[in-house]
Amino acid sequence: MKNIENKVVIITGASSGIGEETAKLLAENGAKVVLSARREDRLKKLADEIGENAVYLKSDVANPDDMKALVSFAKEKFGKVDVLFANAGIMPGSSVSALRVDDWMDMIDINIKGVLHSMAAVLPDFLAQKGGHVIVTSSVAGTRVIPGNAVYSGTKHFVRVFLDAFRTESVQEGTRIRTTTIYPGAVKTELLNILPPSEEKEGWEEYYRQNGLDASSIANAVLYAVSQPDNVDVSDMIIRPTGEV
Ligand code: NDP
Repeated sequence: MKNIENKVVIITGASSGIGEETAKLLAENGAKVVLSARREDRLKKLADEIGENAVYLKSDVANPDDMKALVSFAKEKFGKVDVLFANAGIMPGSSVSALRVDDWMDMIDINIKGVLHSMAAVLPDFLAQKGGHVIVTSSVAGTRVIPGNAVYSGTKHFVRVFLDAFRTESVQEGTRIRTTTIYPGAVKTELLNILPPSEEKEGWEEYYRQNGLDASSIANAVLYAVSQPDNVDVSDMIIRPTGEV
């Protein structure tokens, strides 16, 4: 039996793209999934498709009370939480000189604070049960410098550094909480929709159409990490299209 059956997995950013595909795949493999995002209609449709092993709660990762409510909801519905997949994120990329300060702050609120709020909500249970698994979606933009996407890249570096520091602390404290940071390259999702119309956007869209991975490639990576025996911590996974620099 794989180490996933009956695990309760909270997934933020479950209304589209990577989160949606991961929810379907984990549920197919026996997990119970708790779907979180802001677009309730999309969550309902997905939960209906998955069936009794899925529940959903409209929730905003930028709101700490929403994240606490999400964890309480998961426990009320399924009795416990085993895995947090902190996946919600946005990429309104632009050069620093464009001074799109509101976009910068949104990325900090969602890509950084969203991860922190969801972890702060779930960790009291993981610490008490001396176990659990935190999976976070960083990006290849979290492994190197991406000109034209400086703030996004910075948020994804934060995720990498933060989760690895937390992993080390968990080892030192003996809490046996597993961590996995996923670094996708281009994946065909709705991520680019937030960009205002421009030639650059069209260029990105064409690149993603030609080269982007299906979201299932990332879902497979999450399934692999979750399914490993408890003494195996798959800490970091880079999944990029073959041929992507
Ligand atoms: P999508 O745009 O398809 O999905 C993003 C998800 O995040 C949606 O479900 C959206 O739901 C959710 N989300 C955004 N803001 C919030 C918020 N404030 N509160 C709750 N949920 C929110 O893109 P992806 O699937 O590609 O993105 C998933 C993750 O993958 C992101 O962290 C992204 O940075 C990362 N990534 C993606 C890559 C790609 O090429 N696609 C490459 C590298 C990393 P809703 O709007 O309904 O709230």
